[in-house]
Amino acid sequence: MSAREYQFALDCLSDDLIKFHDDWNWVATDIHCRACGGRQPLADAGVPFRHTVEDCPNQRDFVRYPWEELRRALDHLPALIRHTPRGGA
Ligand SMILES: [Zn+2]
Repeated sequence: MSAREYQFALDCLSDDLIKFHDDWNWVATDIHCRACGGRQPLADAGVPFRHTVEDCPNQRDFVRYPWEELRRALDHLPALIRHTPRGGA
């Protein structure tokens, strides 16, 4: 991974995590909706998130699985860890 590729992957992961954080709050084993306060425990990761209000702005036009969104955001993390420049670079 070149320095440029590393920076690109880092920027993508940062953007994804910031986007995730805009909508969701991950607290221990729960994810909370920042807009309505709805909560989904880890054990329900495979089912659609249930908002507490029908018109929650985080509902958008599609079913959301925040644990899956988090997993996808972190997909790039192992490569970033492997290719993090060591000190002195
Ligand atoms: Zn909500």
